[in-house]
Amino acid sequence: MASLGEPKNTIAILNKYNFVFQKKFGQNFLIDPRVLEKIVLAAGIEKDDLVIEIGPGIGTMTQYLCESARHVVAVEIDRNLISILTGDTLKDYSNVTVINEDILKLDINRIIKEQNGGRPARVVANLPYYITTPIIMGLFEAHVPLLNVTVMVQKEVANRMQAEPGSKDYGALSLAVQYYAEPYIAANVPQNCFMPRPNVASAVIRLTLHKEPPVSVEDEHFMFALIRAAFNQRRKTLVNALANGVGELVSKEAVTDALGRMGQPATVRGEMFTLADFALLSNILQENK
Ligand code: SAM
Repeated sequence: MASLGEPKNTIAILNKYNFVFQKKFGQNFLIDPRVLEKIVLAAGIEKDDLVIEIGPGIGTMTQYLCESARHVVAVEIDRNLISILTGDTLKDYSNVTVINEDILKLDINRIIKEQNGGRPARVVANLPYYITTPIIMGLFEAHVPLLNVTVMVQKEVANRMQAEPGSKDYGALSLAVQYYAEPYIAANVPQNCFMPRPNVASAVIRLTLHKEPPVSVEDEHFMFALIRAAFNQRRKTLVNALANGVGELVSKEAVTDALGRMGQPATVRGEMFTLADFALLSNILQENK
């Protein structure tokens, strides 16, 4: 297969169709075959898998996915790319369905039911960065049956997703992602791997969904409200950040008392709290409400 990821092949397709990049769709196409190979390897695709690719562009990564998976569903918002995909770059593959739709409007559960009998699928995506995190969290919170999600994100975002307690990158995003999945940064991707070059460095992160939640928590929403409040004012102690941030729901006294029961100092900050600590704090506060 002559990879579209070779810059000259991408340029040939762009010229052939007089393609005009649309900034609003975050169109930066990958032009580095080594990065493409790393993404497909990281996704761990097996012969029987359904892969949902979000934002195939001209089909560069899609070709690799079609070589490895049983079936690929590629969802692309830009109407101008659809005839390039179906009539040219993907025309030799019989195991791909191209859907012209905004991923935010698509019922992915239904696709997985229809195309995979409801068995968990894999998601691979290289999307505009401003919608990537909401899409990932939307998939997780809706409990869409997935094995893993392998995505290109801004390097800083990948670091935050993978961060551990005590590090400067640790925060609400780390905990939200790690509640649902195990993160692994598979590659750092410099700007020159894309056409046109983006302004920021990127990284590929694989999020492998937990089979069972890693902590037991009575009320997820309440725990995440605590987490958000803790990191909204991350320089403050947990007692102060929560008493200010979660309003009438928790008092200073209740947090101090709960920390005492957990064997934590009253001066502890949220940035030192693990997911298990937040789950326990949330359960104790709920119990005492
Ligand atoms: N996967 C290709 C690659 O790696 O070369 C293209 C990546 S480009 C960064 C992002 C792609 O996502 C574009 O083709 C863009 O049109 C598409 N896209 C942007 N927003 C989308 C949305 N809401 N739903 C589906 N596709 C979207």
